[in-house]
Amino acid sequence: SAKERGKARYEVFDRSMHTRAIKRLHIENDLRRGIERKEFAVYYQPITSLSTGKISGFEALARWHHPERGFVSPGEFIPIAEETELIIPLGNWLLEEACQQLRKWQIKYPEYSPIKVSVNLSGKQLREPTLIQQIDCILAKTQLPPNSLKLEITESILMENLETATQTLLDLRQKKIQLSIDDFGTGYSSLSYLHRFPVDTLKIDRSFISEMKSGQENSAIVKAIITLAHMLNMDVIAEGIENMAQLEQLKILKCEHGQGYFFSRPLSREEAEKLIASSPQW
Ligand code: C2E
Ligand code: MG
Ligand code: MG
Ligand code: MG
Repeated sequence: SAKERGKARYEVFDRSMHTRAIKRLHIENDLRRGIERKEFAVYYQPITSLSTGKISGFEALARWHHPERGFVSPGEFIPIAEETELIIPLGNWLLEEACQQLRKWQIKYPEYSPIKVSVNLSGKQLREPTLIQQIDCILAKTQLPPNSLKLEITESILMENLETATQTLLDLRQKKIQLSIDDFGTGYSSLSYLHRFPVDTLKIDRSFISEMKSGQENSAIVKAIITLAHMLNMDVIAEGIENMAQLEQLKILKCEHGQGYFFSRPLSREEAEKLIASSPQW
């Protein structure tokens, strides 16, 4: 009967909710332990200048090598780290690690020193009253010039924290730290707010780039986003470039930078260093 089917559906629903809750709890406990045992690593994905082909920076991306479960993707653990406040120690660790690494590369390969490192900032971190002090402390400790650090904040996080975010961004800007809006196009920005954010760079979300080959429509959107960014004095990074056709179109549209598997996957510290050392044309 319909009633029985309904009941069965509820049971399935309950069971899957329960399973999810248990899984969460496991991840949370593991996360806590993982931070203590230093199971995390920073991977570096190159960001390439589309006009010169040179590497202009790296995005630092968190990786978790779980002792039993193997590789756990940031899409899985970052949201849980956020909800449990564990993102604060984890985020600070990541930031320090990335700043320290870039500083080492700047010293070892001085001719490449204009490269920057981009680090993702979560909503929790953005709302943390001591964020600026923590960043100051990390920059002082690692001796990284503030303008070599770029912070990425997603469009949705910005929109959810309009008042606090704008002031924090102004404070960071004043310290010469660079700022990017990440995943642009997915966060339902009211365009009237965009010019108020003191940001240097707009990153077009991967979803728009992946659709570019198939239709004119998405190219038109990408074109509009690039034009808008340029009018607001921002430069543009296209995320998720996977093929030559996308790259060619983006060059025509005067997009400044690209990031994606077409250039490189995120690399371990050792692999990234090999890439730096072997790049002839910096
Ligand atoms: P994101 O900041 O937008 O980072 C870009 C994501 O796109 C990365 O996924 C990267 O590996 C992936 N990607 C880059 N190029 C391509 C491509 O050509 N094709 C495809 N299919 N994917 C590409 P990842 O490393 O899995 O990170 C996912 C998200 O997790 C990040 O998105 C970011 O929002 C978050 N995340 C990663 N590390 C951190 C972190 O240290 N702190 C915070 N708060 N969030 C982080
Ligand atoms: Mg990012
Ligand atoms: Mg992104
Ligand atoms: Mg993204």
